[in-house]
Amino acid sequence: MYNLHDKLHKVHDRVHAAATLAGRSTKSVQLLAVSKTRPASSVKALYEAGQRIFGENYLQEALEKQSLLSALDIEWHFIGPIQSNKTQDIAQHFSWVHSVDRFKIANRLNDQRPIDLPPLNICLQVNVDNEASKSGLDLHHQDELLNLAIAVSDLPHLCLRGLMAIPMACSDQHKQREAFAKVATAFDCIRSSLNKLGIDVSAFDTLSMGMSGDMEAAIAEGATIVRVGTDIFGPRNDQ
Ligand SMILES: *Cc1c(COP(=O)(O)O)cnc(C)c1O
Repeated sequence: MYNLHDKLHKVHDRVHAAATLAGRSTKSVQLLAVSKTRPASSVKALYEAGQRIFGENYLQEALEKQSLLSALDIEWHFIGPIQSNKTQDIAQHFSWVHSVDRFKIANRLNDQRPIDLPPLNICLQVNVDNEASKSGLDLHHQDELLNLAIAVSDLPHLCLRGLMAIPMACSDQHKQREAFAKVATAFDCIRSSLNKLGIDVSAFDTLSMGMSGDMEAAIAEGATIVRVGTDIFGPRNDQ
């Protein structure tokens, strides 16, 4: 457990160093601990070290952990691919969804969000490298992205917060930054287009990008949420 605390603090140090280098405040970057495949006991250990926001990819696994940890005030973020038959549970059990890439899913989440809960925070997932294997809207079709952003803005039980991206893994920092810069540019375009249409963009403030291998580059390009699993919890079995 102490090992987990050490790793968490090392990641905090990296976030702090990257933010400082970019002339940003450390507070402007939130650390989302990605706990997919990790046991509830590890989530609890991180909670005890002060971590409050956790990201999960697999619904069933997430629901099990949430019920074991229901006494803790954790903010849960869903970051995995979404099938239609999962939207009801996601709408009921999460505060954020980072991986929305089509209207059908957004509309279902809106319809199924319990009205006694605040609006569900939404990021639209974009596909930077146009990889067929990855979900997300193609960044080359920004009109589609804008249309989805407009449509989601109109759904009363959702709150459109920004964009999420998972660029191709690569170890070259310049290439990493290039990919993140494209997402940041798309974010600025969407924000100003929405604003011109008279849509309130005060909550459109989130760039969810950067993982264990590229969080420094993401922070340099404006990430406001970095999603980190491996460098906090250690390697996963699937890695
Ligand atoms: C697994 C995952 C992460 C964390 O990746 P690490 O390389 O383990 O830090 C971040 N975002 C998404 C969408 C993921 O699926």
